[in-house]
Amino acid sequence: MAVRALRLTGWKSEPRMAEVPDPVPGPGGVVVKIGGAGACHSDLHLMHDFGEGMLPWGPPFTLGHENAGWVHAHGDGVRGLEIGQPVAVYGPWGCGTCSRCRVGIETYCENPAGAPVPGGGGGLGLDGGMADYMLVDDARHVVPLPDGLDPVAAAPLTDAGLTPYHAVRRSLPKLLPGSSALVIGAGGLGHLGVQILRALTAATIITVDTRQEALDLAQSCGSDVCLLSDEDTSARVLELTGGRGADVVLDFVGTDGTLALGAATVRSLGDLTLVGLGGGTLPVTFFSPRYEASVQSTYWGSRPELVEVLDLAAKGLLTPRISTFGLGEAVDVYRLLREGKIDGRAVIVPTQGA
Ligand SMILES: [Zn+2]
Ligand SMILES: [Zn+2]
Repeated sequence: MAVRALRLTGWKSEPRMAEVPDPVPGPGGVVVKIGGAGACHSDLHLMHDFGEGMLPWGPPFTLGHENAGWVHAHGDGVRGLEIGQPVAVYGPWGCGTCSRCRVGIETYCENPAGAPVPGGGGGLGLDGGMADYMLVDDARHVVPLPDGLDPVAAAPLTDAGLTPYHAVRRSLPKLLPGSSALVIGAGGLGHLGVQILRALTAATIITVDTRQEALDLAQSCGSDVCLLSDEDTSARVLELTGGRGADVVLDFVGTDGTLALGAATVRSLGDLTLVGLGGGTLPVTFFSPRYEASVQSTYWGSRPELVEVLDLAAKGLLTPRISTFGLGEAVDVYRLLREGKIDGRAVIVPTQGA
């Protein structure tokens, strides 16, 4: 039997719908019937910005690295999963045995040569979830959904929820009552970053964006102050924080301009965390950022953190803004995403309008 899939068949090209063979799980593997697959901005980078030799893997593969659905079939040796059970798929697939992978931080696998593809996963070099079915090569990547959470809502949480969760969680000791957090960029990840800060901390949340709609979304997610970005933004943030600066700055954009804003507004001993793939750079001198401010990049999150994110959502504390589309609309969805016309996160639901 053939099934539908959205395939990236070459670098610097648009993906296209194709028929592919029905996946069959090998020993230890699981086939997930896809209930939702999130359309991520980083897929646009895969389509347009990467070329031959820039990554240790490449096309052809099926897109979609934010996936959830139901266990459809599993191979020999898989225990603890039942057919039909709702699950999310942990996206970064490492070697499974190095010291990072053993504690579930497969994003930072230290033996990439031992992974199915180095530094990739389903939808990143291997077939992902923009399809009717997805093969997950190892059952350890399949995380059961808690009661009250359906696959459509769970899909974007595996990246757009997990990534800001990881960034916030590592800075929690600095987000005590009386502290402040600055969120730069309130798109697919940023609006969930605001909700996560609201759910986990009593910090004053300040959000900056260039788009009023994004700020309206941030406000509905619990941001205390929303600022349209202009030349006075850093002065406004300093004023709002009593001249001290924000204890934690989360930059979900990552351009030269947003990093400069972060450096100008992070408090001494604070954290400036780069999450966005904007490609900017940040000059660091003795005097800037402020003394003992830490600057760090983060990438995605760990498997134990995914379990926590799903729990937060099942309790109603984390609710992604979602627009759903059928699998047949997936090509158009990426065009809309590139044009900035997607509200919150677009989720492909293969069973919708199939
Ligand atoms: Zn992504
Ligand atoms: Zn590893």
